[in-house]
Amino acid sequence: MKRKLTSEIIDLIGEKVKLSGWVDCRRDHGKIIFIDLRDKDGLVQLVFLGSDKDLYQLAETLRSEWVISVEGEVRGRPEKMVNLDMITGKIEIAVEKLEVLSQAKTLPFDINTNGYDIHEEKRLTYRYLDLRRGRMKKNLMLRDKVIQFMRRQLGEKGFIEVETPILTKSTPEGARDYLVPSRLNLGNFYALPQSPQQYKQLLMVAGFERYFQVARCFRDEDTRGDRQPEFTQLDIETSFWGQEEILEMTEALFVETVKKFCPEKEITQIPFPRITYGEAMEKYQTDRPDLRKDKNNPDELAFCFVVDFPAFEWREEEKRWDAVHHPFTRPQTTDIEEMKRIPDKILAYQYDLVLNGSEIGGGSLRTYNPDVLAATFEIMGHTWAAIYEKFGHLLEAFEYGVPPHGGIAFGLDRFFAILNNEPSIREVIAFPKTSDGRDLMMGAPAGVDEEQLKELKIGIIK
Ligand code: ASP
Repeated sequence: MKRKLTSEIIDLIGEKVKLSGWVDCRRDHGKIIFIDLRDKDGLVQLVFLGSDKDLYQLAETLRSEWVISVEGEVRGRPEKMVNLDMITGKIEIAVEKLEVLSQAKTLPFDINTNGYDIHEEKRLTYRYLDLRRGRMKKNLMLRDKVIQFMRRQLGEKGFIEVETPILTKSTPEGARDYLVPSRLNLGNFYALPQSPQQYKQLLMVAGFERYFQVARCFRDEDTRGDRQPEFTQLDIETSFWGQEEILEMTEALFVETVKKFCPEKEITQIPFPRITYGEAMEKYQTDRPDLRKDKNNPDELAFCFVVDFPAFEWREEEKRWDAVHHPFTRPQTTDIEEMKRIPDKILAYQYDLVLNGSEIGGGSLRTYNPDVLAATFEIMGHTWAAIYEKFGHLLEAFEYGVPPHGGIAFGLDRFFAILNNEPSIREVIAFPKTSDGRDLMMGAPAGVDEEQLKELKIGIIK
């Protein structure tokens, strides 16, 4: 017999079915044993009657989290036994055959609670058990559904998803790079991408016009609140679009997503309010204002766009101007004289998407005019040679017919944390790291064999 899922048997009263899954819990009532069987879709009640002695005795040995397979008849439950809290609450399985597929030790923690009170290190060490928890399943399933939906929405608007390399060269997002030594090019290192920024711009030069990617980004930052060394962005780049079109597309994408998957949530204001960086700092003393009307209401989503960021900021420690976002952000002027004279007054086509006081996205139009780019680097105090060393590939690409382009990237982990009312992005990532960057389940990072280091000609300074 072919195995069925618990979600597939609700209407099969009177039929024989085969089910497999985990023993969620067991209740003995004298001559009758009830087991809740759990599979990926839910629970169903199994009934073992004392009349079949062998079967009953085997059922008596079952313990929580054992993996079993059963065959039996789907029966309607007697009226007073109906459990409306369960999707399968109107039926049960009168088991005729039972097979134990594997046994389980006692779990290190309870998985039938929401788990918030269990020490996080323990949850992360046994993440594969923690993920059995209903809350975690729900979080990861919503994540999957939303990502599939976003992919479809973008596909319908003519975007294509392109994968870009993980082994690459430093990208200018302002964090430290993770480095990977090259065995074939000794002494040289790849950097893991802080974002696909340069690749997506190069795809615009290549003529793709509408790119997106569910992209993993890596940033080696000091422990700071709710961050992860690797995180997921929905990364987007377009050609011939202005800021307005990018913001409109963003708004439609998020409004449609919320309406479809979280209809219980109320979006505070549509169209999303647009606040300039200057106004935000003056009125809210932050560039991530929380515009919820009622901050205690878990179902309120207050989106807003923060626009018109300054192009440059002064770095006192280094005594130089730096790009607020990255050096390819397009200033709102092409007057190079003005840029150099009053860099602090120059605004950029840069925008953030803020949700309930968290930045969940950011992007910009890019400078593609070589003179403006050169002026930007000069203001930042970089020599042309140094710039060429770092960004030569991009600068050269721009000499072969570059369209005006711009984009945005959304931090999906944070978005999902807010959608699920979770306190941390670790609750919406299947295998997150601790705040100090350790994977407790795999035991990473870890030392490596002397042999591996030798091959790479790397020595550890003790
Ligand atoms: N690469 C930028 C970031 O990760 C987003 C963008 O400018 O499109 O913040």
